[in-house]
Amino acid sequence: MRPGHDEPVVTARVDAGIKEDMLEGRLRWRVARVARKGKGRRRGGWVGVLLALALCGVDPLPVAAASAGGVAPIPAPAGPPLKLEVPPKLRLLVVAPHPDDESLGAGGLMQQVLEKGGRVHVLFMTSGDGYPEAVALATGHRQPTAADYRGFGELRRAEALVALEHFHILPLSVTFLGFPDGGLQEIWRRGPRVPAYESPFTHDDRPPYPEAFNPNARYTSRELIGQIAHLVALADPDWIALPTPLDTHPDHCATFTFILAALKSLAAEPGGESKIPDRLLTYLVHDSRWPPLPSIPGPLPPPPQSFPPARWYSLPLEAAQIDAKLGALESHRTQAAVMDLLFRALARSNEVFGVIERPEFGRLKPGEPACGPEIVSHSAPGTVPITVPSAPLPAPEATPVAAARGTRVPVR
Ligand SMILES: [Zn+2]
Repeated sequence: MRPGHDEPVVTARVDAGIKEDMLEGRLRWRVARVARKGKGRRRGGWVGVLLALALCGVDPLPVAAASAGGVAPIPAPAGPPLKLEVPPKLRLLVVAPHPDDESLGAGGLMQQVLEKGGRVHVLFMTSGDGYPEAVALATGHRQPTAADYRGFGELRRAEALVALEHFHILPLSVTFLGFPDGGLQEIWRRGPRVPAYESPFTHDDRPPYPEAFNPNARYTSRELIGQIAHLVALADPDWIALPTPLDTHPDHCATFTFILAALKSLAAEPGGESKIPDRLLTYLVHDSRWPPLPSIPGPLPPPPQSFPPARWYSLPLEAAQIDAKLGALESHRTQAAVMDLLFRALARSNEVFGVIERPEFGRLKPGEPACGPEIVSHSAPGTVPITVPSAPLPAPEATPVAAARGTRVPVR
């Protein structure tokens, strides 16, 4: 703990005790039961949807707004997505903006890589410590303190490690950068030559966690890009799984941009070109029209929008892999308590990825837009810009999961 910090109210240790507590505690979550039955139950109807929207503390950044003046996303091509094949002995790096995104986006992919003799490393950009209502729920404090937020970050880190045990991924293969939840897009926007960002939650301008990759790193884009580049050089991945730039959560699309910037930085170093992965597999978590409700059966369809190279791939999961993914999601107890609708909607018989082959990096640099498909346009100079009118709004029945995005629960 750094000098001047209060004692965290929420403390967490990764040991058998907390694991038992996490898996058998009083927070009840029905994702496994519902998903195994192949049907869900709509909660709250439209009243619930409107309430969730009203309580949504993170304003989704509409893709259309994010791409104003740039290249619009394009409708995903009709027809089934291509089938993704995992080659043997693959080195995979999974990048998650927050604890739970790794399991939501790539829980099945990680298992298949390991089952085929490959290696997996997981990189968490933040520890998910900027979620006021969830912190209030966990601590019982209506007005959480900075120490509460730091303690919540420690708890989510512990949950993530327990979740990854379901995939047989050990802590040695997991890295937490400890950057600020909710602050990644702003760090990018400020560019490299400004004072460090200070989290409005923890009031820190550097990771408050001793286990962070570099607790002394200031919250700047230069630091973050440097750390990611270092991690990529160490992991030397063939593929990187990361959020799509079309994700409407600012931390998610900014994560994509920081990864590209780090790869660009790495490629410029002597010998660095050989460290650039062959493929980027982008996954989507937050979108206004996707995924379908848990009550709608079947595998995940391709998201309604895409970006050059404009093709989604589907990775079918076996029953045991689905079970392990459900177990991992259940281990994220603090999130299961407030995001179960989205969890159940994404825990299906497949995962979908927008694949970018052999990425290039164009003129990407901090200070430019962090989100939207123009990032990909910048990074692929040969891509023909495509402008397509906004897709029609979905039917109301198709949107409740979107309403759960970033859902804030009332402080009780
Ligand atoms: Zn997230």
